[in-house]
Amino acid sequence: MMRSLENELKECARKLLTEKKVDLIIGYSKSPLPLRSTPCFIREEKDVDSLIFDLTCSNNLATYLQKSKCAEHRKPNTDPTVRMENRCKIGIIAKACDARSIVQLILEKQVKKEDITVIGIACTGILDLKKVSDRLNGKEILNYNPQDDEVLFEGKDFKKALKLSDILCDSCKTCLNPDPSVYDSFIGEPVSGAKTEKQEPMTELENLSFGERWEYFEHEISKCIRCYACRNACPLCYCEECVVDRTNPQWFGKSTEFSDTFTFHITRMLDTAGRCVGCGACIRACPTHVDLAPLGIKIEKEIKERFGYTAGLSLDATPPMATFNEDDKEEFIM
Ligand code: SF4
Ligand code: SF4
Ligand code: SF4
Repeated sequence: MMRSLENELKECARKLLTEKKVDLIIGYSKSPLPLRSTPCFIREEKDVDSLIFDLTCSNNLATYLQKSKCAEHRKPNTDPTVRMENRCKIGIIAKACDARSIVQLILEKQVKKEDITVIGIACTGILDLKKVSDRLNGKEILNYNPQDDEVLFEGKDFKKALKLSDILCDSCKTCLNPDPSVYDSFIGEPVSGAKTEKQEPMTELENLSFGERWEYFEHEISKCIRCYACRNACPLCYCEECVVDRTNPQWFGKSTEFSDTFTFHITRMLDTAGRCVGCGACIRACPTHVDLAPLGIKIEKEIKERFGYTAGLSLDATPPMATFNEDDKEEFIM
């Protein structure tokens, strides 16, 4: 199944490059590390065979549409027949959450749809490496083999099958929009109609007392080492100079003292409110497993209830933070 999906994907990418519809394909290739893939940037047809798509394709590739985050856009073209570098036409492989990020980036005028060919791909979820490692007691994995509802893991002296639903990322278990909201080509079969075990995202914070909420927040934030991997992995954190990096004037303390770290996270949550697509890339990128997803889910729910908006679902929608309505609730204004 995965194999035919990959073949279809390679064929599509090859065609786009051969017909010069794109100058660059952003996709995934195998990583030398087990259970990992790595983003790849393909300019020549001969490299298309390195493309893969499987349960390890965890990066949100929309991040690399930003010139500030991807030097590939700025590489000079050696072929004089291809377009000027500032009009680099990009083909990008997009799971549903990547596609939602692309829609947001288009709505926020960060990229132009006419410069991007979206290769939407059927996605049933990606692995949470921490869940896998916890269930295999940290044993080194040398090989894995997805089989229907299970994945078989093999190491030097063990073989163990784990139930797929136990080792998927939380964001995938609650992914209610599993088909890309925008695409030019579609690889595989739409997932929406398929039988899935999707759960409604939990708004678990709502059931906690104020003190318990604070405890949760304090616990997660105290793990943060300010490496900014979350910010760098996020397609919607794209300011050329992040406010936390500014030194003149310096708005933020740069230490890992709770007050500084707290300010960073609250600012990032507010910045991504109504824009976050819940892809979970920030959580997967975090080396210390800071997980603020419950807060993100709560914010997404508030935005939906107040403004009827879910980020990245339609190119025709107006993001709530980009407009004004006289009927907006203003109960916070005294
Ligand atoms: S959130 Fe949805 S689209 Fe994104 S990786 Fe998970 S299942 Fe796929
Ligand atoms: S904040 Fe995290 S979950 Fe939201 S879009 Fe950015 S990377 Fe994805
Ligand atoms: S990736 Fe994790 S540790 Fe690094 S800044 Fe983000 S939350 Fe903090």
